[in-house]
Amino acid sequence: MSSLDQDQRLHPSCRDKTTVSSDSSDAHTPAKKPLQGLKLASHAVLEEAQQKGRLKCSKCGGSRMFFCYTCCSLVGVTPQEIPSIELPVKIDIIKHPNETDGKSTAIHAKILAPGDVTIYTYPCIPDYDKDKVVLVFPGPGAVSVQDMMQCLYDRTDSKSHYTSDMPCIKRLKREEVQGATHASDNSESGTPDEAKGPESRVSPLQRVVFIDSTWNQTNKISTDERLQDLLRVELNARKTCFWRRQKGKPDTYLATIEAIYYFLKDFHEHCLAEEYNGEYDNLLFFYSYLHSVVNKAKISAGKC
Ligand SMILES: [Zn+2]
Repeated sequence: MSSLDQDQRLHPSCRDKTTVSSDSSDAHTPAKKPLQGLKLASHAVLEEAQQKGRLKCSKCGGSRMFFCYTCCSLVGVTPQEIPSIELPVKIDIIKHPNETDGKSTAIHAKILAPGDVTIYTYPCIPDYDKDKVVLVFPGPGAVSVQDMMQCLYDRTDSKSHYTSDMPCIKRLKREEVQGATHASDNSESGTPDEAKGPESRVSPLQRVVFIDSTWNQTNKISTDERLQDLLRVELNARKTCFWRRQKGKPDTYLATIEAIYYFLKDFHEHCLAEEYNGEYDNLLFFYSYLHSVVNKAKISAGKC
């Protein structure tokens, strides 16, 4: 998962808005907005499955709805009935063993893009090539998705020289100066002329790593020495739609599936330099459905 609290500190106004979406009086209006206008497959199959209720997973016998988060298989729906997505880059998700599987949205990515997503349980993680793999994690030294490719090129180019960090820091400063324009940046108007040199070269990016765990555990994983040398990428402030607050976590943060989705959207626009036409919207197929179910339940319970 990718916490937003770094961004929240930079943009305090976001915190208020997102917190409102969690449980206050008008929760159903602002919280829904980020999920509106998505190009999603029909939710009819999920509605049908939901009416049947929980079923036994054929592999582990657990009582599940839609999918089994332990076995990573579908329950009560067939693969043909749900969307299958091809991603432009491989995704690895590192999961903390203590994370409650049922709450994690990492499984959504694996089920919807099985060919491109791998889930690892910490501490079993691969050795990554720092020239070809990035870690999505906020904090000092993290760069934006826009600057990520250039930083990877700089790393490769300067390999035979000395430190590879300097160009990234320079670019980070430029990024900070531009920060003010980001808010108005997410319209379809795009900025094709920002597509510069790097995009025409062969992409060095092979894999993107996300961490899926509670806040404290995330810090532990992110400081693992095997992840230390990876270029860190942070997402621009986004409003999370996540419906659950968790103990020990900031009020607002991106669910793992949201972080993956927003990363890919940025990657598509800024790194592939192509217009985004909903290519990865179906990553939120389960997420948006569950979100609407929770909202309806809240409304009928009179909480809103
Ligand atoms: Zn199972």
